[in-house]
Amino acid sequence: MSDQSNSIVDIRSDTVTRPSAGMRKAMADAEVGDDVYGDDPTVAALEERVADLMGKDAALFVASGTQSNLIALLSHCGRGDEYIGGAGYHISNYEQGGAAVLGGISPRHVTPSVDGSLAPDAIESEIQADDPHFAVSKLLCVENTFHGRVVPQAKLEAGADVAHSNGLAVHIDGARLMNAVMKSDSDAKSMTAFADTVSLCLSKGLGAPVGSVLTGPKEFIKRAIRNRKLVGGGMRQAGVLAACGLYALDNNVERLADDHEHAQLLCQRLSAVDGISIDANNVHTNMVWLNTEVEGKVPLSDHMAERGIVLSNPYGPKGVVRLVTHLDFNAHHIDRVVDGFASWVKG
Ligand SMILES: *Cc1c(COP(=O)(O)O)cnc(C)c1O
Repeated sequence: MSDQSNSIVDIRSDTVTRPSAGMRKAMADAEVGDDVYGDDPTVAALEERVADLMGKDAALFVASGTQSNLIALLSHCGRGDEYIGGAGYHISNYEQGGAAVLGGISPRHVTPSVDGSLAPDAIESEIQADDPHFAVSKLLCVENTFHGRVVPQAKLEAGADVAHSNGLAVHIDGARLMNAVMKSDSDAKSMTAFADTVSLCLSKGLGAPVGSVLTGPKEFIKRAIRNRKLVGGGMRQAGVLAACGLYALDNNVERLADDHEHAQLLCQRLSAVDGISIDANNVHTNMVWLNTEVEGKVPLSDHMAERGIVLSNPYGPKGVVRLVTHLDFNAHHIDRVVDGFASWVKG
């Protein structure tokens, strides 16, 4: 481990991890070819692996989670069509409205319940009648995990039933789906069976430097290949990156349980600090959302930075801080983070 990763505790996100020695070896050893011609065997192996994992026919390796969701939207919907998502979901809030900007696809938003699910009757009331006043409702997008919470499976399935019975397709933004799978003691195939298409990030908790995989029916993936090229995402000898994804699926899935345990420990110990409150019911996987009820003498992020702890900018409402555990965060870091918060509160 480099000095930097020993001394700095970065809990902004699980995207900050660096590829391990084993992962770098897998990159060096990867067999590659020009994937735009369909010639890269390592990309093909990754796509087959993730399609199997999700129980779908086919898959496509893409550059990022944002690109994966955008390609999904472009492949499910055309100009003038509409999708239904959740207010505050990644697709709705953090992707620059790409579906509308680049695809002419308009959003409709349902406010999610605290558990991250969209109520079936709320979904139904957003589905448009066949009328020339209205855009055409084509797709329901859900997200799991949502803010680190595992969304209740029965509610996801009930929402998907409403969508399907009205002729809409269903897409899961499963950037951190494997965290949900590990937490639920379930498998990805059963947790995604209700959806037509699924996007999985390799560069979050799974620890790859780059990449997401979009899975779905063969005809859908054919359109997705065209749309990937349209958005400039056709990659050539991408096997060096796909090798990281394969390595991550072999080595970094089971260990997500460690990240979840570290988040629980952070939650317990930080809850005991006066002036900090955490709703422990929200801590399912690798995220802890805490509220600071006090004003320290210096800004929290400056105080923590002096101690080598990197925090994300306060998120959402004032005083709310998101901590994310990951494979470069270990049990020793917990003391440092707790001490950092406790000394900030004391002032
Ligand atoms: C991170 C994330 C994305 C986007 O992934 P990038 O690789 O950062 O573009 C999409 N959806 C969710 C839920 C995410 O957490």
